[in-house]
Amino acid sequence: MKTNVSLRAPSGLGLAAKECGPTARMSLQSYARKLARIEAALSRMDKGCYGFCLTCEGRIGLHRLEADPAEAMCETCDSGKDEDVR
Ligand SMILES: [Zn+2]
Repeated sequence: MKTNVSLRAPSGLGLAAKECGPTARMSLQSYARKLARIEAALSRMDKGCYGFCLTCEGRIGLHRLEADPAEAMCETCDSGKDEDVR
């Protein structure tokens, strides 16, 4: 009986490792990042500065907000920023 249990355990552990693998961790990080962006957008709504660029304080185009409601930069500032900021 004891050997049966020890034979089953590795497959169970293997499944758990698969569920918590690098891919699952990556998507959890991206969800956390999305949530932070949404919370920042909600905070800007509370302050009354939603829809305005964080960098130049100009209006963020409606098409950008429709594509990403949590957008924090206008097209001009977004295209000029460094890639590693993301
Ligand atoms: Zn701007």
